[in-house]
Amino acid sequence: MEFNQALDKLKEVDQKVHALNHAEAIISWDAATGAPKNSVEGRAITLEVLTSETFKTLINDEFNDLLHTLEDKKDNLDPITLAKVKEYRDEYNRIAKIPAKEYSAYTGLRAKSSNAWEKAKANNDFKEFAPYLKEVVAYNKRFAEYRGFEGHPYNTLLGDYEKGYTTDDLDDFFGSLKETVVPLVKQINESDVKLKTDFLSKYYEKKTQLELSDKLLDIIGFNKDSGTLCESVHPFTTNFNKNDVRITTHVHKNNFTSNIFSTLHEGGHGLYEQNVRDDLNFSILCSGTSMGIHESQSRFYENLIGRSYAFCEYLYPTIQEMFPEQLSSITLDEYYLGINNVQPSLIRIEADELTYSLHVMIRYEIEKMLIDGSIKIEDLPEIWNQKYTDYLGVTPKNYSNGVLQDVHWSEGLLGYFPTYALGTAYASQLYNTMAKSIDFDKDLREGNISNINQWLIENIHKHGKMLSPKEILVSATGESLNVKHFTDYLSNKYSKIYNL
Ligand code: ZN
Repeated sequence: MEFNQALDKLKEVDQKVHALNHAEAIISWDAATGAPKNSVEGRAITLEVLTSETFKTLINDEFNDLLHTLEDKKDNLDPITLAKVKEYRDEYNRIAKIPAKEYSAYTGLRAKSSNAWEKAKANNDFKEFAPYLKEVVAYNKRFAEYRGFEGHPYNTLLGDYEKGYTTDDLDDFFGSLKETVVPLVKQINESDVKLKTDFLSKYYEKKTQLELSDKLLDIIGFNKDSGTLCESVHPFTTNFNKNDVRITTHVHKNNFTSNIFSTLHEGGHGLYEQNVRDDLNFSILCSGTSMGIHESQSRFYENLIGRSYAFCEYLYPTIQEMFPEQLSSITLDEYYLGINNVQPSLIRIEADELTYSLHVMIRYEIEKMLIDGSIKIEDLPEIWNQKYTDYLGVTPKNYSNGVLQDVHWSEGLLGYFPTYALGTAYASQLYNTMAKSIDFDKDLREGNISNINQWLIENIHKHGKMLSPKEILVSATGESLNVKHFTDYLSNKYSKIYNL
Protein backbone atom coordinates (compact mmCIF):
# COMPACT_ATOMS: atom_id res chain seq x y z
CA MET A 1 0.00 0.00 0.00
CA GLU A 2 1.18 3.48 -0.85
CA PHE A 3 2.04 5.86 2.02
CA ASN A 4 -0.60 8.54 1.30
CA GLN A 5 -3.25 5.96 0.63
CA ALA A 6 -2.41 4.30 3.97
CA LEU A 7 -2.74 7.64 5.75
CA ASP A 8 -6.21 8.25 4.27
CA LYS A 9 -7.30 4.72 5.02
CA LEU A 10 -6.14 4.97 8.65
CA LYS A 11 -8.35 8.06 9.11
CA GLU A 12 -11.28 6.18 7.63
CA VAL A 13 -10.74 3.14 9.90
CA ASP A 14 -10.27 5.35 12.96
CA GLN A 15 -13.57 7.09 12.23
CA LYS A 16 -15.38 3.82 11.71
CA VAL A 17 -13.98 2.24 14.88
CA HIS A 18 -14.96 5.34 16.81
CA ALA A 19 -18.51 5.15 15.45
CA LEU A 20 -18.82 1.44 16.27
CA ASN A 21 -17.45 2.00 19.78
CA HIS A 22 -19.89 4.88 20.24
CA ALA A 23 -22.82 2.64 19.32
CA GLU A 24 -21.67 -0.23 21.55
CA ALA A 25 -21.04 2.08 24.49
CA ILE A 26 -24.42 3.78 24.26
CA ILE A 27 -26.17 0.40 24.16
CA SER A 28 -24.27 -0.78 27.23
CA TRP A 29 -24.96 2.50 29.01
CA ASP A 30 -28.63 2.13 28.26
CA ALA A 31 -28.58 -1.47 29.54
CA ALA A 32 -27.17 -0.36 32.88
CA THR A 33 -29.34 2.71 33.40
CA GLY A 34 -32.79 2.47 31.86
CA ALA A 35 -33.45 -0.46 29.54
CA PRO A 36 -36.32 -2.80 30.49
CA LYS A 37 -35.73 -6.38 31.63
CA ASN A 38 -36.83 -7.93 28.35
CA SER A 39 -34.31 -5.96 26.30
CA VAL A 40 -31.57 -8.56 26.89
CA GLU A 41 -32.05 -10.69 23.78
CA GLY A 42 -32.32 -7.83 21.28
CA ARG A 43 -29.31 -6.13 22.77
CA ALA A 44 -27.22 -9.30 22.57
CA ILE A 45 -28.04 -9.70 18.85
CA THR A 46 -27.15 -6.08 18.05
CA LEU A 47 -23.96 -6.13 20.11
CA GLU A 48 -22.81 -9.30 18.38
CA VAL A 49 -23.20 -7.63 14.97
CA LEU A 50 -21.33 -4.51 16.10
CA THR A 51 -18.49 -6.44 17.76
CA SER A 52 -17.96 -8.63 14.73
CA GLU A 53 -17.93 -5.52 12.50
CA THR A 54 -15.18 -3.99 14.68
CA PHE A 55 -13.26 -7.27 14.54
CA LYS A 56 -13.51 -7.42 10.72
CA THR A 57 -12.40 -3.80 10.41
CA LEU A 58 -9.25 -4.29 12.47
CA ILE A 59 -8.16 -7.88 12.04
CA ASN A 60 -7.42 -8.43 8.35
CA ASP A 61 -4.38 -8.54 6.06
CA GLU A 62 -5.12 -5.21 4.43
CA PHE A 63 -5.11 -3.39 7.76
CA ASN A 64 -1.93 -5.20 8.78
CA ASP A 65 -0.31 -4.00 5.50
CA LEU A 66 -1.51 -0.48 6.14
CA LEU A 67 0.11 -0.49 9.59
CA HIS A 68 3.34 -1.89 8.12
CA THR A 69 3.43 0.86 5.47
CA LEU A 70 3.09 3.54 8.12
CA GLU A 71 5.49 1.85 10.54
CA ASP A 72 8.14 1.70 7.80
CA LYS A 73 7.93 5.47 7.39
CA LYS A 74 7.31 6.36 11.00
CA ASP A 75 9.75 9.30 10.86
CA ASN A 76 7.37 10.98 8.41
CA LEU A 77 4.35 10.69 10.71
CA ASP A 78 3.04 13.50 12.90
CA PRO A 79 2.90 12.60 16.63
CA ILE A 80 -0.85 11.98 16.65
CA THR A 81 -0.78 9.62 13.67
CA LEU A 82 2.24 7.83 15.13
CA ALA A 83 0.40 7.31 18.43
CA LYS A 84 -2.63 5.96 16.55
CA VAL A 85 -0.46 3.51 14.61
CA LYS A 86 1.06 2.24 17.87
CA GLU A 87 -2.36 1.90 19.46
CA TYR A 88 -3.81 -0.03 16.53
CA ARG A 89 -0.71 -2.22 16.29
CA ASP A 90 -1.14 -3.23 19.94
CA GLU A 91 -4.80 -3.98 19.31
CA TYR A 92 -3.94 -5.99 16.19
CA ASN A 93 -1.27 -8.03 17.95
CA ARG A 94 -3.51 -8.66 20.94
CA ILE A 95 -5.99 -10.53 18.77
CA ALA A 96 -4.32 -11.57 15.51
CA LYS A 97 -1.77 -13.87 17.11
CA ILE A 98 -4.55 -16.01 18.55
CA PRO A 99 -6.08 -18.59 16.18
CA ALA A 100 -9.48 -17.20 15.08
CA LYS A 101 -11.33 -20.38 16.10
CA GLU A 102 -9.96 -20.26 19.63
CA TYR A 103 -10.70 -16.57 19.94
CA SER A 104 -14.35 -17.00 19.05
CA ALA A 105 -14.69 -20.12 21.25
CA TYR A 106 -13.30 -18.03 24.10
CA THR A 107 -15.89 -15.30 23.49
CA GLY A 108 -18.60 -17.96 23.81
CA LEU A 109 -17.01 -19.37 26.95
CA ARG A 110 -16.96 -15.97 28.63
CA ALA A 111 -20.71 -15.56 28.14
CA LYS A 112 -21.38 -19.02 29.62
CA SER A 113 -18.92 -18.50 32.42
CA SER A 114 -20.47 -15.17 33.48
CA ASN A 115 -23.82 -16.89 33.60
CA ALA A 116 -22.45 -19.78 35.66
CA TRP A 117 -20.76 -17.35 38.05
CA GLU A 118 -23.99 -15.45 38.64
CA LYS A 119 -25.82 -18.67 39.53
CA ALA A 120 -22.93 -20.05 41.59
CA LYS A 121 -22.74 -16.83 43.59
CA ALA A 122 -26.51 -16.85 44.22
CA ASN A 123 -26.36 -20.54 45.26
CA ASN A 124 -23.13 -20.13 47.24
CA ASP A 125 -21.70 -23.06 45.28
CA PHE A 126 -18.06 -22.79 44.15
CA LYS A 127 -18.15 -26.22 42.44
CA GLU A 128 -20.72 -24.91 39.95
CA PHE A 129 -18.30 -22.22 38.76
CA ALA A 130 -14.97 -24.07 39.11
CA PRO A 131 -14.98 -25.88 35.71
CA TYR A 132 -15.62 -22.59 33.87
CA LEU A 133 -12.90 -20.78 35.75
CA LYS A 134 -10.51 -23.62 34.96
CA GLU A 135 -11.21 -23.16 31.24
CA VAL A 136 -10.98 -19.36 31.38
CA VAL A 137 -7.57 -19.64 33.05
CA ALA A 138 -6.41 -22.27 30.53
CA TYR A 139 -7.39 -20.01 27.62
CA ASN A 140 -5.57 -17.05 29.13
CA LYS A 141 -2.44 -19.13 29.66
CA ARG A 142 -2.54 -20.26 26.04
CA PHE A 143 -3.17 -16.72 24.80
CA ALA A 144 -0.12 -15.50 26.71
CA GLU A 145 1.90 -18.23 24.94
CA TYR A 146 0.57 -17.26 21.49
CA ARG A 147 1.17 -13.58 22.09
CA GLY A 148 4.56 -14.10 23.67
CA PHE A 149 5.92 -12.74 26.93
CA GLU A 150 9.10 -11.84 28.72
CA GLY A 151 9.56 -13.10 32.27
CA HIS A 152 6.25 -14.20 33.73
CA PRO A 153 3.29 -15.10 31.41
CA TYR A 154 1.12 -12.85 33.61
CA ASN A 155 3.00 -9.84 32.18
CA THR A 156 1.16 -10.16 28.88
CA LEU A 157 -2.26 -10.11 30.57
CA LEU A 158 -1.28 -7.24 32.86
CA GLY A 159 -0.05 -5.26 29.85
CA ASP A 160 -3.59 -5.13 28.43
CA TYR A 161 -4.64 -2.96 31.36
CA GLU A 162 -1.42 -1.25 32.47
CA LYS A 163 1.07 -1.13 29.65
CA GLY A 164 4.72 -1.50 30.63
CA TYR A 165 4.18 -3.01 34.08
CA THR A 166 5.43 -6.47 35.02
CA THR A 167 5.17 -8.90 37.93
CA ASP A 168 8.55 -7.56 39.12
CA ASP A 169 7.00 -4.09 39.51
CA LEU A 170 3.94 -5.55 41.23
CA ASP A 171 5.90 -7.85 43.54
CA ASP A 172 7.84 -4.80 44.79
CA PHE A 173 4.71 -2.71 45.04
CA PHE A 174 2.55 -5.21 46.90
CA GLY A 175 5.57 -6.32 48.94
CA SER A 176 5.83 -2.79 50.36
CA LEU A 177 2.10 -2.67 51.05
CA LYS A 178 2.32 -5.97 52.88
CA GLU A 179 5.16 -4.64 55.03
CA THR A 180 3.42 -1.40 56.00
CA VAL A 181 -0.35 -1.70 55.61
CA VAL A 182 -0.88 -5.19 57.06
CA PRO A 183 0.74 -4.28 60.44
CA LEU A 184 -1.10 -0.94 60.45
CA VAL A 185 -4.44 -2.70 60.02
CA LYS A 186 -3.53 -5.13 62.83
CA GLN A 187 -2.70 -2.22 65.14
CA ILE A 188 -6.02 -0.56 64.36
CA ASN A 189 -7.88 -3.84 64.91
CA GLU A 190 -6.34 -4.05 68.36
CA SER A 191 -6.80 -0.36 69.17
CA ASP A 192 -9.24 0.87 71.82
CA VAL A 193 -10.27 3.80 69.65
CA LYS A 194 -13.76 3.17 68.31
CA LEU A 195 -15.08 5.79 65.91
CA LYS A 196 -18.70 6.84 65.89
CA THR A 197 -20.42 5.65 62.70
CA ASP A 198 -24.06 5.05 63.63
CA PHE A 199 -25.21 8.38 62.14
CA LEU A 200 -24.04 7.25 58.68
CA SER A 201 -26.69 4.53 58.51
CA LYS A 202 -29.68 6.65 59.51
CA TYR A 203 -32.43 7.21 56.92
CA TYR A 204 -31.42 9.83 54.33
CA GLU A 205 -34.04 10.85 51.79
CA LYS A 206 -33.12 9.94 48.24
CA LYS A 207 -34.20 13.24 46.64
CA THR A 208 -31.89 15.26 48.89
CA GLN A 209 -29.05 12.82 48.33
CA LEU A 210 -29.37 13.37 44.57
CA GLU A 211 -29.36 17.14 45.10
CA LEU A 212 -26.11 16.69 46.98
CA SER A 213 -24.46 14.66 44.20
CA ASP A 214 -25.53 17.32 41.71
CA LYS A 215 -23.87 19.99 43.88
CA LEU A 216 -20.71 17.90 44.20
CA LEU A 217 -20.32 17.70 40.43
CA ASP A 218 -20.50 21.52 40.25
CA ILE A 219 -17.91 21.86 43.00
CA ILE A 220 -15.38 19.61 41.27
CA GLY A 221 -15.97 21.27 37.88
CA PHE A 222 -17.66 18.43 35.98
CA ASN A 223 -19.07 20.01 32.81
CA LYS A 224 -22.78 19.19 32.71
CA ASP A 225 -23.11 20.38 29.11
CA SER A 226 -20.68 17.61 28.16
CA GLY A 227 -21.77 14.93 30.59
CA THR A 228 -24.65 13.56 32.64
CA LEU A 229 -25.19 11.74 35.92
CA CYS A 230 -27.61 8.80 36.19
CA GLU A 231 -28.18 5.98 38.65
CA SER A 232 -27.09 2.36 38.26
CA VAL A 233 -26.57 -0.64 40.55
CA HIS A 234 -22.78 -0.47 40.20
CA PRO A 235 -21.52 3.06 39.50
CA PHE A 236 -19.38 3.45 36.37
CA THR A 237 -18.19 5.94 33.76
CA THR A 238 -18.38 5.68 30.00
CA ASN A 239 -17.36 8.17 27.35
CA PHE A 240 -18.55 8.44 23.77
CA ASN A 241 -16.27 11.41 23.11
CA LYS A 242 -14.92 14.26 25.25
CA ASN A 243 -18.15 16.20 24.91
CA ASP A 244 -20.35 13.32 25.93
CA VAL A 245 -19.25 11.63 29.15
CA ARG A 246 -21.73 9.59 31.18
CA ILE A 247 -21.30 8.79 34.84
CA THR A 248 -23.52 7.00 37.35
CA THR A 249 -23.95 6.85 41.09
CA HIS A 250 -26.09 4.75 43.41
CA VAL A 251 -28.23 5.89 46.30
CA HIS A 252 -28.67 3.84 49.46
CA LYS A 253 -31.19 5.35 51.84
CA ASN A 254 -29.35 3.98 54.87
CA ASN A 255 -25.82 4.67 53.72
CA PHE A 256 -25.71 8.22 52.42
CA THR A 257 -21.95 8.58 52.02
CA SER A 258 -21.93 5.79 49.45
CA ASN A 259 -23.55 8.26 47.02
CA ILE A 260 -21.11 11.04 47.96
CA PHE A 261 -18.02 8.90 47.33
CA SER A 262 -19.42 7.21 44.22
CA THR A 263 -20.18 10.61 42.72
CA LEU A 264 -16.71 11.96 43.53
CA HIS A 265 -15.10 8.74 42.25
CA GLU A 266 -16.96 8.62 38.93
CA GLY A 267 -16.73 12.41 38.68
CA GLY A 268 -12.94 12.01 38.78
CA HIS A 269 -13.09 9.48 35.94
CA GLY A 270 -15.43 11.83 34.08
CA LEU A 271 -13.18 14.90 34.43
CA TYR A 272 -10.30 12.92 32.92
CA GLU A 273 -12.37 12.08 29.84
CA GLN A 274 -13.77 15.60 29.45
CA ASN A 275 -10.36 17.24 29.53
CA VAL A 276 -8.43 15.32 26.90
CA ARG A 277 -6.99 17.79 24.37
CA ASP A 278 -9.38 18.80 21.56
CA ASP A 279 -7.35 17.51 18.63
CA LEU A 280 -7.68 13.92 19.87
CA ASN A 281 -11.47 14.00 20.02
CA PHE A 282 -13.41 11.36 18.05
CA SER A 283 -10.29 9.20 17.70
CA ILE A 284 -8.96 6.10 19.43
CA LEU A 285 -6.59 8.36 21.39
CA CYS A 286 -9.37 10.34 23.06
CA SER A 287 -9.57 8.45 26.33
CA GLY A 288 -7.64 7.80 29.51
CA THR A 289 -4.32 6.07 28.84
CA SER A 290 -4.77 3.07 31.17
CA MET A 291 -7.01 1.61 33.84
CA GLY A 292 -4.47 2.53 36.52
CA ILE A 293 -4.08 6.17 35.52
CA HIS A 294 -7.85 6.38 35.25
CA GLU A 295 -8.22 5.01 38.75
CA SER A 296 -5.66 7.53 40.01
CA GLN A 297 -8.05 10.29 38.95
CA SER A 298 -11.16 8.76 40.50
CA ARG A 299 -9.33 7.99 43.75
CA PHE A 300 -7.86 11.49 43.82
CA TYR A 301 -11.32 13.09 43.93
CA GLU A 302 -12.81 10.38 46.15
CA ASN A 303 -10.04 10.05 48.75
CA LEU A 304 -7.47 12.84 48.62
CA ILE A 305 -10.19 15.45 48.19
CA GLY A 306 -13.40 13.81 49.46
CA ARG A 307 -11.99 12.14 52.57
CA SER A 308 -9.66 14.99 53.56
CA TYR A 309 -10.29 17.10 56.65
CA ALA A 310 -9.93 20.36 54.70
CA PHE A 311 -12.64 19.43 52.20
CA CYS A 312 -14.93 18.27 55.02
CA GLU A 313 -14.48 21.72 56.61
CA TYR A 314 -15.86 23.20 53.40
CA LEU A 315 -18.57 20.68 52.58
CA TYR A 316 -19.91 19.48 55.91
CA PRO A 317 -21.90 22.64 56.84
CA THR A 318 -23.77 22.25 53.52
CA ILE A 319 -24.45 18.55 54.16
CA GLN A 320 -25.61 19.39 57.67
CA GLU A 321 -27.99 21.99 56.31
CA MET A 322 -29.41 19.50 53.81
CA PHE A 323 -29.94 16.81 56.49
CA PRO A 324 -30.56 18.75 59.72
CA GLU A 325 -32.56 15.99 61.39
CA GLN A 326 -29.82 13.39 60.98
CA LEU A 327 -26.73 15.56 61.43
CA SER A 328 -27.41 18.62 63.57
CA SER A 329 -25.87 16.95 66.64
CA ILE A 330 -22.90 15.50 64.75
CA THR A 331 -19.76 17.66 64.80
CA LEU A 332 -17.37 18.21 61.90
CA ASP A 333 -14.74 16.06 63.64
CA GLU A 334 -17.21 13.24 64.18
CA TYR A 335 -18.19 13.38 60.51
CA TYR A 336 -14.55 13.31 59.34
CA LEU A 337 -13.67 10.41 61.64
CA GLY A 338 -16.85 8.53 60.73
CA ILE A 339 -16.12 8.60 56.99
CA ASN A 340 -12.55 7.44 57.64
CA ASN A 341 -13.44 4.57 59.92
CA VAL A 342 -11.30 1.47 59.28
CA GLN A 343 -13.25 -1.77 59.34
CA PRO A 344 -11.55 -4.81 57.80
CA SER A 345 -14.27 -6.61 55.88
CA LEU A 346 -14.80 -9.44 53.43
CA ILE A 347 -16.07 -7.43 50.47
CA ARG A 348 -13.68 -5.46 48.26
CA ILE A 349 -16.15 -2.91 46.93
CA GLU A 350 -17.25 -1.97 50.46
CA ALA A 351 -13.71 -1.62 51.78
CA ASP A 352 -12.38 1.55 53.44
CA GLU A 353 -9.46 3.55 52.05
CA LEU A 354 -6.81 1.79 54.17
CA THR A 355 -7.79 -1.85 53.65
CA TYR A 356 -8.88 -1.56 50.00
CA SER A 357 -5.47 -2.28 48.49
CA LEU A 358 -5.10 -5.44 50.58
CA HIS A 359 -8.18 -6.88 48.89
CA VAL A 360 -6.47 -6.18 45.56
CA MET A 361 -3.18 -7.67 46.75
CA ILE A 362 -4.93 -10.95 47.59
CA ARG A 363 -6.39 -11.16 44.08
CA TYR A 364 -3.03 -10.37 42.48
CA GLU A 365 -1.22 -13.07 44.45
CA ILE A 366 -3.87 -15.60 43.46
CA GLU A 367 -4.00 -14.61 39.77
CA LYS A 368 -0.26 -14.90 39.43
CA MET A 369 -0.33 -18.42 40.86
CA LEU A 370 -3.28 -19.39 38.65
CA ILE A 371 -1.38 -18.32 35.54
CA ASP A 372 1.90 -20.02 36.43
CA GLY A 373 -0.02 -23.13 37.50
CA SER A 374 1.30 -23.28 41.05
CA ILE A 375 -2.20 -23.68 42.52
CA LYS A 376 -5.23 -25.77 41.58
CA ILE A 377 -8.67 -24.29 41.03
CA GLU A 378 -10.13 -26.71 43.60
CA ASP A 379 -7.90 -25.23 46.30
CA LEU A 380 -8.88 -21.66 45.54
CA PRO A 381 -11.52 -21.13 48.29
CA GLU A 382 -9.13 -22.35 50.96
CA ILE A 383 -6.25 -20.19 49.70
CA TRP A 384 -8.57 -17.20 49.48
CA ASN A 385 -9.82 -17.63 53.05
CA GLN A 386 -6.32 -18.09 54.41
CA LYS A 387 -5.12 -14.84 52.80
CA TYR A 388 -8.11 -12.91 54.19
CA THR A 389 -7.34 -14.28 57.64
CA ASP A 390 -3.63 -13.45 57.39
CA TYR A 391 -3.86 -9.96 55.88
CA LEU A 392 -7.18 -8.60 57.10
CA GLY A 393 -7.98 -10.71 60.16
CA VAL A 394 -11.39 -11.75 58.82
CA THR A 395 -12.43 -15.13 57.42
CA PRO A 396 -15.23 -15.66 54.89
CA LYS A 397 -17.98 -17.96 56.11
CA ASN A 398 -19.25 -18.74 52.61
CA TYR A 399 -18.19 -18.63 48.93
CA SER A 400 -20.47 -15.74 47.92
CA ASN A 401 -18.72 -13.37 50.34
CA GLY A 402 -15.37 -14.93 49.55
CA VAL A 403 -13.91 -16.28 46.37
CA LEU A 404 -17.12 -15.77 44.33
CA GLN A 405 -17.69 -12.09 45.11
CA ASP A 406 -16.21 -10.44 41.99
CA VAL A 407 -17.41 -10.67 38.41
CA HIS A 408 -13.91 -10.20 36.88
CA TRP A 409 -12.60 -13.77 36.60
CA SER A 410 -15.85 -15.05 35.10
CA GLU A 411 -15.42 -12.51 32.30
CA GLY A 412 -11.78 -13.41 31.73
CA LEU A 413 -10.46 -10.14 33.16
CA LEU A 414 -7.23 -11.58 34.54
CA GLY A 415 -4.60 -8.88 35.07
CA TYR A 416 -7.15 -6.15 35.70
CA PHE A 417 -7.31 -6.11 39.52
CA PRO A 418 -3.80 -4.69 40.18
CA THR A 419 -4.74 -1.45 38.38
CA TYR A 420 -7.15 -0.57 41.22
CA ALA A 421 -4.29 -0.52 43.72
CA LEU A 422 -1.74 1.00 41.36
CA GLY A 423 -4.12 3.85 40.59
CA THR A 424 -4.72 4.53 44.26
CA ALA A 425 -0.96 4.70 44.81
CA TYR A 426 -0.41 6.94 41.75
CA ALA A 427 -2.91 9.37 43.27
CA SER A 428 -0.73 9.85 46.38
CA GLN A 429 2.35 10.33 44.22
CA LEU A 430 0.56 12.99 42.14
CA TYR A 431 -0.61 14.70 45.32
CA ASN A 432 2.95 14.78 46.64
CA THR A 433 4.18 16.69 43.58
CA MET A 434 1.11 18.89 43.31
CA ALA A 435 1.38 19.98 46.94
CA LYS A 436 4.74 21.62 46.17
CA SER A 437 3.03 24.27 44.02
CA ILE A 438 -0.55 24.36 45.33
CA ASP A 439 -1.78 25.20 48.83
CA PHE A 440 -3.99 22.14 48.81
CA ASP A 441 -5.65 22.50 52.22
CA LYS A 442 -6.33 26.21 51.80
CA ASP A 443 -7.97 25.61 48.42
CA LEU A 444 -10.06 22.72 49.71
CA ARG A 445 -11.18 24.64 52.78
CA GLU A 446 -12.56 27.26 50.40
CA GLY A 447 -14.07 24.66 48.06
CA ASN A 448 -11.76 25.90 45.32
CA ILE A 449 -10.85 22.98 43.06
CA SER A 450 -9.71 25.02 40.06
CA ASN A 451 -5.95 24.95 40.78
CA ILE A 452 -6.07 21.21 41.37
CA ASN A 453 -8.10 20.64 38.19
CA GLN A 454 -5.73 22.79 36.17
CA TRP A 455 -2.73 20.81 37.43
CA LEU A 456 -4.36 17.49 36.58
CA ILE A 457 -5.47 18.71 33.14
CA GLU A 458 -1.95 19.90 32.30
CA ASN A 459 -0.14 16.85 33.66
CA ILE A 460 -2.59 14.00 33.09
CA HIS A 461 -5.92 14.63 31.38
CA LYS A 462 -4.92 16.48 28.22
CA HIS A 463 -2.54 13.75 27.02
CA GLY A 464 -5.28 11.18 26.41
CA LYS A 465 -3.52 8.10 25.06
CA MET A 466 -0.52 10.05 23.70
CA LEU A 467 1.64 8.91 26.63
CA SER A 468 1.87 5.50 28.33
CA PRO A 469 1.08 5.19 32.06
CA LYS A 470 4.78 5.06 32.96
CA GLU A 471 5.53 8.10 30.78
CA ILE A 472 2.69 10.10 32.32
CA LEU A 473 3.80 9.34 35.86
CA VAL A 474 7.40 10.32 35.16
CA SER A 475 6.47 13.47 33.25
CA ALA A 476 4.05 14.57 36.00
CA THR A 477 6.09 13.69 39.09
CA GLY A 478 9.69 13.31 37.90
CA GLU A 479 9.91 9.67 39.05
CA SER A 480 8.41 6.30 38.23
CA LEU A 481 6.07 4.57 40.66
CA ASN A 482 7.31 5.17 44.20
CA VAL A 483 5.08 3.35 46.65
CA LYS A 484 6.49 5.30 49.58
CA HIS A 485 4.27 8.30 48.77
CA PHE A 486 1.26 6.06 49.23
CA THR A 487 2.38 4.17 52.35
CA ASP A 488 3.55 7.41 54.02
CA TYR A 489 0.22 9.04 53.27
CA LEU A 490 -1.68 6.09 54.80
CA SER A 491 0.60 5.83 57.85
CA ASN A 492 0.39 9.56 58.60
CA LYS A 493 -3.33 9.81 58.13
CA TYR A 494 -4.39 6.72 60.05
CA SER A 495 -1.83 7.10 62.87
CA LYS A 496 -3.42 10.45 63.60
CA ILE A 497 -6.97 9.15 63.39
CA TYR A 498 -6.26 6.18 65.68
CA ASN A 499 -3.68 7.85 67.97
CA LEU A 500 -1.04 5.22 67.14
ZN1 ZN B 1 -12.96 3.59 39.21
